Amino acid sequence: MSATILPGAPHLQYRGDALYLEDVRLADLAREHGTPLFAYSRASMLSALAAYQRGFAGRNAKVCYALKANSALAVLQVFARAGCGFDIVSGGELERVLAAGARGSDIIFSGVGKTRREMRRALEAGIHCFNVESEPELEVLSGVAMETGTRAPVSLRVNPDVNPLTHPYISTGLKGSKFGIAHKEALRAYQRAAALPGLRVVGIDCHIGSQITQVSPYLDALDRVLDLVTAIEAAGIPLQHIDFGGGLGIVYNAEQPPAADALWQRLLARLDARGFGERQLMIEPGRSLVGNAGVCLTEVLYLKPGEQKNFCVIDAAMNDLPRPAMYEAFHQIVPLQATTAKPVTYDVVGPVCESGDWIGRDRKLAAQPGDLLAVLSAGAYCMSMASNYNTRGRAAEVLVDGATVHLIREREDFADQVRKEKLLP
Ligand SMILES: *Cc1c(COP(=O)(O)O)cnc(C)c1O
Repeated sequence: MSATILPGAPHLQYRGDALYLEDVRLADLAREHGTPLFAYSRASMLSALAAYQRGFAGRNAKVCYALKANSALAVLQVFARAGCGFDIVSGGELERVLAAGARGSDIIFSGVGKTRREMRRALEAGIHCFNVESEPELEVLSGVAMETGTRAPVSLRVNPDVNPLTHPYISTGLKGSKFGIAHKEALRAYQRAAALPGLRVVGIDCHIGSQITQVSPYLDALDRVLDLVTAIEAAGIPLQHIDFGGGLGIVYNAEQPPAADALWQRLLARLDARGFGERQLMIEPGRSLVGNAGVCLTEVLYLKPGEQKNFCVIDAAMNDLPRPAMYEAFHQIVPLQATTAKPVTYDVVGPVCESGDWIGRDRKLAAQPGDLLAVLSAGAYCMSMASNYNTRGRAAEVLVDGATVHLIREREDFADQVRKEKLLP
């Protein structure tokens, strides 16, 4: 028996009763490296990227991986070697992508709160452009660029005011969002940018939200952005590229997001119809490149039957997997060794001292203490959001490539956690 268990995760399969990622038996990985452990499939990441590349075949398009989804250096190397650019949101992420071998010209810099110091460092690195999110940021960036004797390439992040139909915490393109420049103020902001001596206008950008599972918000945003492009160019400010941001959703449970290539066929048809098909296009996908490539392996510590609920206490917690606590997000939880034992309904919870520390609610599992489980769709916004809350060391990470396993991050120990702390004299 060999069956893929999650659409979008082609390399995660049961062979017989044992769960494999590519050609590696996950129970072996957990025993060798301990738990909690994140494991990522290189082939899954590359097949997710290939779907975008198919969608853009024959076009002038650049995929810039938004690394806040998963910023492990080895993951960045996989994408850099596959020809990706990167969308960064901090000076720390800039250093990460440079360390992973990216060229400055492959980097775009998003984010509402760039500091002068981050701007200076990005100018030194010769990045492709700054995605600027406010008029005050334009002024500051122009000043910093003048001090360093350069002109900063800028693209303005506009807020198309469309509802991405996703969780409010990951909706970013509505009025009232802290992100982007309001649609009706965009032309004025472009005129300001074009007049500032330290800036060079190169493009336009939008990013409407995350975990988007429908095509219509993208089409609406596209139309709104193209209306702006027409107005901005009519005012004498040419735009070299149009950047549509990221946001495409993945399967956690029963979502049915469009495939990346199918989505882009729809968007490219609209771009062609409106005469923008030849323009340089950029996108900033994060979750959809890595989310389904990763799993988090964890051990069952205790079963705790209760009056109203049964609890299954595991050794992974909200500090490793913050999405359920943060967004009430759903992750599938499956055994590494399938069994025919009768399942019981549990709330699967971690050891952290917070009621918000749950990983799955009302899950049917036939688990015993010592059993190993996999939390699925854990490649994005898990390890990159992990913390040391409760003085828990962050998990180890491995990259699976066929039958080969690369340890890409060692488990954090106590010394790592207190390295910057000082005892009183
Ligand atoms: C987070 C983010 C992305 C990536 O979003 P995903 O939903 O992970 O694809 C892209 N662009 C910007 C500006 C972001 O903040």
